[in-house]
Amino acid sequence: MQQNNVYRSFLDKRTILLQKNLAPHRRAAAITLECSFMDLLHLLETHFGYKSFRPTQEKIINTILNGNDCLVVMPTGGGKSLCFQVPALCLDGLTLVISPLIALMKDQVDGLRNNGINAAFLNSSQTQEEQMDVMDDATNGRLKLLYVAPERLGVASFMNYLQTLPLQLIAIDEAHCISEWGHDFRPDYRLLKKLRAAFPHVPCIALTATATPQVQTDIRSQLGLDNAPLFLSGFNRTNLTYHVYPKARTFDRLLLILKKAERLPAVVFCFSRKSTESLAADLQAEGLRCLPYHAGMSPQLRKDTQDAFMRDDVEIITATTAFGMGIDKPDIRTVVHIDLPKNIESFYQETGRAGRDGLPSDCILFYSDADRFKQEYFIRQIEDPLLQQSTREKLQQMAAYGELRTCRRKYLMAYFSEVYDQDNCGSCDRCLAKDEELIDVTDLGTKILEAVQATGERFGGGHIVDVLRGKSTDKTQMAQHDNLQIFGVAQDQSAQKLRFTLAEMVAGNLLRKAEGLYPTLSLTLKGKTALENGEPIFIRKPEAEVAIVERKVADVDDERFERALFEELRALRRKLAEEQRVAAFIIFGDRSLKEMASLFPQSIESFMQIYGVSTKKADRYGKRFTDIIRRYAQEHRLEDRVTAKILPVFPY
Ligand code: ADP
Ligand code: ZN
Repeated sequence: MQQNNVYRSFLDKRTILLQKNLAPHRRAAAITLECSFMDLLHLLETHFGYKSFRPTQEKIINTILNGNDCLVVMPTGGGKSLCFQVPALCLDGLTLVISPLIALMKDQVDGLRNNGINAAFLNSSQTQEEQMDVMDDATNGRLKLLYVAPERLGVASFMNYLQTLPLQLIAIDEAHCISEWGHDFRPDYRLLKKLRAAFPHVPCIALTATATPQVQTDIRSQLGLDNAPLFLSGFNRTNLTYHVYPKARTFDRLLLILKKAERLPAVVFCFSRKSTESLAADLQAEGLRCLPYHAGMSPQLRKDTQDAFMRDDVEIITATTAFGMGIDKPDIRTVVHIDLPKNIESFYQETGRAGRDGLPSDCILFYSDADRFKQEYFIRQIEDPLLQQSTREKLQQMAAYGELRTCRRKYLMAYFSEVYDQDNCGSCDRCLAKDEELIDVTDLGTKILEAVQATGERFGGGHIVDVLRGKSTDKTQMAQHDNLQIFGVAQDQSAQKLRFTLAEMVAGNLLRKAEGLYPTLSLTLKGKTALENGEPIFIRKPEAEVAIVERKVADVDDERFERALFEELRALRRKLAEEQRVAAFIIFGDRSLKEMASLFPQSIESFMQIYGVSTKKADRYGKRFTDIIRRYAQEHRLEDRVTAKILPVFPY
């Protein structure tokens, strides 16, 4: 078989190198010098069914194969796994992968095995006997990759055992877990220092999706990666569309979203365990296949829930953030935050779970001011003043995202110190709404500017609204604002309308909102000029009460494949996943199924041209999938577009 040839050629090279008597830690380097780019592409195609590397992947793989360490910061879905899986295949020894969660390990190993790659994991979910078998396989050179949980490194006998293995590469997944500054600190990750000390010459690749410089520096110093090159790849997730909806009539809106087949599977993040349960019950009552997930459930129930979701038996999970890291389902189409996340890092990480397969997906936040105040309460309980301050700042940055009147993508990227220089991203609600007509609010807008000025530019929005509506409060009385001429001039307007207009005027740079604990309003130069000259004031039209913004890309995408065939292929995938007790995407991802449903491959040769079809998968599943496709194609008079070389390439 082809793959054996590739291995053999590496093996031959190794023999030559051994003859040359190279120091062991340089062996990897020398091997690669002979490992041409064509070899790598060949490995990628036969083992993973992909035609090309992503640009950063290629650089990283070369760095490792040259015997160097590296630090990889790549957003979720960026393709981190291949960065160590491909080198693992090239190197003649074993690659040790440290991974924090049992579920993650299982999925990665299932995925590799399905592609015909010898991989295994060691963790507490296995019996003694199973563990012995795996260790035996590693010892006898039957494994290319071995996944282990970090706590195992604390066991002296295990460290001794590792010393007997031909380790060629150490990969540390979710490396931010080593840092207390990260959002998911795990003390066991500190044991990695020991591992580094025990294998000082084995190249090490640390991977994470967390980008803050503080965390990066910490990873470097903890793991002794001081001089390792950093590969930071784009934080722009182009296939994700960002929306924010006001937190009003939330359930109705949520239903509108989740009742569309193309928005599923979905994860809905909630603040409390209780609300995950009540929301799941409400969604079930609407006929949706939904289950809750939180840390208060028994481990068995959590596992069953997760498995059901992975196998597509359940299409919606309502979860607390406990669901965060364990879930690596690549075809999640929608991530909803019903409550405000604590900071942008968690928000980005959680929304990053959507669309890992590169297909269009949505990230939706329901935002209200009240959520923020709720969290403020918890923040005030933090004893360490510095920590309290930084937690509050992070919450404010998150709230600012909710209130944003400009491009949400640009804001997120700026947060991660990346510049986005396009004017309209075309896939956030702000940019999609750009063409909306503006409305003239000169009368009300002028009153707002006057009220801000007349009260001395020292008050927040809530107070200004009270003054304009003539609402007497302790604050208006104390400040004697009820004596002002402006008091009650907008009595006939709803508080909601006033708040909206005010926020739009901040967005339009007529008013400035102070940052920090007291978000007081003041006039900008533009605001002052508008007031003095009586200029007209325009704002964006308020959204209809319950409407959802459509994802534009999805429409195009839907026209390109036969949905009925796609559903049939999905059903087969689900069946196979159940038979093999693996996650559905381990069989094939959505993107592969969509290509099948648009190119109609009817022979094994055509089938092998499809995205994600490795040699092994073509062997294993080719017949069952092409049978369905052939029948469908005959019924609908469709030709095999792979052989016909009509390749409508997907735009991703
Ligand atoms: P991460 O670990 O960074 O979140 P993954 O390694 O799981 O990302 O990759 C995300 C998705 O992208 C997976 O479905 C993977 O199969 C796919 N992918 C990765 N690299 C490539 C590539 N070079 N070509 C095509 N698809 C790829
Ligand atoms: Zn945008």
